[in-house]
Amino acid sequence: MPHTRPPDPQAALDRLLAGNRRFVAETAQYPIPSAERIKLASGQAPFAVVIGCSDSRVPVETVFDQPPGNLFVARLAGNIVSDFCIASAEYAIEALQSMLVVVLGHSRCGAVRAAIDTIETGAEFPGHIQLLADALAPIAEQTRSAADWWEAAVERNVIAGKERILRQSAIVQTATANGTLAVVAAVYDLSTGLVNVVG
Ligand SMILES: [Zn+2]
Repeated sequence: MPHTRPPDPQAALDRLLAGNRRFVAETAQYPIPSAERIKLASGQAPFAVVIGCSDSRVPVETVFDQPPGNLFVARLAGNIVSDFCIASAEYAIEALQSMLVVVLGHSRCGAVRAAIDTIETGAEFPGHIQLLADALAPIAEQTRSAADWWEAAVERNVIAGKERILRQSAIVQTATANGTLAVVAAVYDLSTGLVNVVG
């Protein structure tokens, strides 16, 4: 059952959100039997790509209650949609027939907070960490006047990530135009465990 593929992008999104509700309701279906794992050794056909944050509190398969084989995941602090994330997504779409891309942010994201702190106080971070804050700062800047700047910047960041992959990837453009792929932006709430689609 876990490895039947959804018929279309909307069904793929419905399956992820249903898994998220199981996760919240503590009725997750993990773990999968070893027979499924052995079957997967011969190949994969993940129906969805998730570009998520490295944050340890947002384990993607757990949050969507999906077994190995279903999700092609790229995680990077601040769920920045880098060129390598786009390349990974394109591989899943082209070679593995993935039908959904989810750019998944989360509440209280530290990378987004670092961008806000850079803007607000001129905070500087050691080593390469500043690269993350600098990459996210222009996005955070756009939500400066929001009542809850941090929350608004998290939401803006996933929408910007969705827009970026749609703008940069001819493969994504073609697949979405054909109706064989959907791209959505979503935010995971650390407190409730719920994933909300925001764009
Ligand atoms: Zn984060």
